[in-house]
Formats: sequence, structure tokens, C-alpha cells
Amino acid sequence: MNDFAYARARTWDEALSLYEPGAVYVAGGTDLLPNVKHRLVKPARVVAIGGIPGGIDLATELVIGATTPLQQVADSPVVRALVPPLAQAAQLVAGPQIRAMGTLGGNVLLDTRCLYYNQTEGWRTALGYCLKAEGTWCHVVGGPKTCVAAQSSDTVPVLLALGARLRLLGPSGRRELPIRDLYRFNGMDHLAIEKGELLTEIVVPRPPVAFRGSYQKLRTRDSIDFPQLGLAIAAELHGDTIGALEMVVGAANPQPKPVRGLEALVGQPLSPASIEAIADLVYKQTRPQGSVHGSEAWRRQMARVMARRGLEALGR
Ligand SMILES: Cc1cc2nc3c(=O)[nH]c(=O)nc-3n(C[C@H](O)[C@H](O)[C@H](O)COP(=O)(O)OP(=O)(O)OC[C@H]3O[C@@H](n4cnc5c(N)ncnc54)[C@H](O)[C@@H]3O)c2cc1C
Ligand code: SF4
Repeated sequence: MNDFAYARARTWDEALSLYEPGAVYVAGGTDLLPNVKHRLVKPARVVAIGGIPGGIDLATELVIGATTPLQQVADSPVVRALVPPLAQAAQLVAGPQIRAMGTLGGNVLLDTRCLYYNQTEGWRTALGYCLKAEGTWCHVVGGPKTCVAAQSSDTVPVLLALGARLRLLGPSGRRELPIRDLYRFNGMDHLAIEKGELLTEIVVPRPPVAFRGSYQKLRTRDSIDFPQLGLAIAAELHGDTIGALEMVVGAANPQPKPVRGLEALVGQPLSPASIEAIADLVYKQTRPQGSVHGSEAWRRQMARVMARRGLEALGR
């Protein structure tokens, strides 16, 4: 690693006061530290925020502190009862050690990932680097302009489907941002937040009584791997009638993708015919990039399969 100064914050305000240009925040460090070791990030100062208390609080809405470990989210009786897909997604991140260290805030702000980028410096030197770091060419799209490294967080498609909001604290003050507005289609700069801005809390609106949902993950090894595709479903079912439906595809692109056109299914029964129609919409709108393991065509087909499986499970 490069040499850097290190400071530990006990409060969000202290963390902000310790920030300076060239600094980075570290929560659990499970994303940041591999990137520092691979010399993808060369911070001048590391501000540790992992000691700032997190926690899960249910009042009119569910409020989860950004530093809450993923395992705590997965195990929380409140999260499991109120929004089961969020607990499922947190439980599917990596393996036990990483879920114990990694935080929900770090998962939301995870850097984009790519087969040609998340490599040691020696590996990347041999390749001649790439557009996202020290190079001029994207090996995935085969051009000098666009980076399509994937937003690969498991909890993010679920948080989008649930309509979560982010509480931020930065040099310009406090603000709230719908998570749908956080991500851009640019793997080199995919987060619409200011430099130095902190994510302090994730707010999840209370779902309706008739809420049904799921999160499904495609990966090579169930014990640890990042998603090759993720699919979140948040629905309202009245008997077998669809009252509302949101679906979000993750790990395909730099930006998680809400499926369009689902409002046409509202009021229809959740039947084999409507499930096929929805699975078809998901398939048509999912265009995975080759920045992640597994062929794009196979991952696209799996989007259809995952949609079908997830929707069938809602009716049970
Ligand atoms: C082997 C391995 C497997 C993994 N598998 C998965 C997987 O299957 N699914 C998955 O989703 N992730 C996976 N991860 C990635 C990572 O472990 C998780 O995404 C984790 O939630 C990151 O949280 P963290 O607290 O460790 O983040 P950190 O590494 O501390 O931070 C990540 C980024 O967010 C910024 N940051 C963190 N918190 C804040 C905050 N509150 N305010 C402002 N900026 C902040 C940091 O500056 C950094 O840029 C894996 C990692 C490894 C090493
Ligand atoms: S998508 Fe292209 S530019 Fe982006 S990290 Fe991968 S190879 Fe580099």
C-alpha cells in the first residue's frame, strides 16, 4: 500500500471535519482495502468511520445506520419481518467474515467492479491498464470512451425496489437523496454524491400489509462470490391480484436497472401467463456487460429464469 495518514472518527461531524481532498472514508474496509492494496486507490488520508455507531430503528419508517454490519441487517428480526428481501440480500453478500466487517453503507457505496480492473498492479501493468485506471482503453466495450464496470452490491437492487432514501452529510450540509438517483451509467464515476459527502442513514419506507418480495442472486460459488446478476422484486399481492410491482436488476451495468412497463400488470392476476409476460420484459430490458464473469447471453437468459422463479415464489 502507499503511505497514508490515518484518523479515526467517533461521530459523523468529526468524520466530516477530518476529511480533506485526497482523503477516503473507510467503514468495514472490505471493498476499500483490497482496492488500496491493488493500488487502484492511493489515499493521502484514511478516515475510519466504522466506530461510529450504526443500528436499526423502526418508527414510521425503518432507519438503518450506514455503519451497521451486513450480518446485523441479515439477522435483525425487524428487517426480516418487515422487508425480508433486504435480510435475504444482506445474508447473500460474500461470506461470514465479510458480512461481519462490511457495512450496509459500504455496500451502497461499493466501487464498480470489472474483471480487468479488480486485479493486482502487476496483472494490470501486463495488460496495459484500462480506461478506469491509468489506461486509455476499455477492454470490455473495446473503445476509449465508456467504462461499464458493474455496480455489484447485493442490497442495492432491493433498496431501489423498496424506494429507500439516503441521508447524507457533506461540505454543503445535510440532504436526503432517493437511492434511485444515486447511480449513473458511468463505471468510472457512478455515484452522484459530492466529494467528502458521508452516508449516515438508509431510510426504508414501511411496506404495505400486502407486501411480498424476494431477492435472487446468480453467482459461481455460493460461499463467497459477488453477483453475476441480482434481481429484486417488491410487490403487493391482494389474493392473487397484483396491486403493485417493482423489479430491479443489479450487477449487469454501472447502474442498477428498474424494469420498465410493470404498471401494465397491476390489477392482473399473478398467473402463469402474467409471469411469462413479466419474465419476458425482464429479459428484453437486461443487457449484461462483459465486465463480470459469465457470458452476457447466459446471464441475460438467467434474468428471465430468475424473474420466473421469484414471481412464482411470491404466490406461495
Ligand atoms: C471476497 C469478497 C467478496 C465480496 N462479495 C460481495 C458480494 O457477494 N456482494 C456484495 O454486495 N459485496 C461483496 N463484497 C464487497 C464488500 O464486502 C461489501 O460490498 C461491503 O458491504 C462493503 O462494505 P464496507 O463497510 O466494507 O465498505 P468499505 O470498504 O469500508 O467502503 C466501500 C466504499 O464506500 C465508501 N464508504 C463506506 N461507507 C461510507 C459512508 N458511510 N459514507 C461515505 N462513504 C462511505 C468508502 O470510502 C469506499 O469507497 C465482497 C468483498 C470481498 C473482498
Ligand atoms: S469496463 Fe472497461 S474501463 Fe471499465 S474497468 Fe472494465 S476494462 Fe476498465
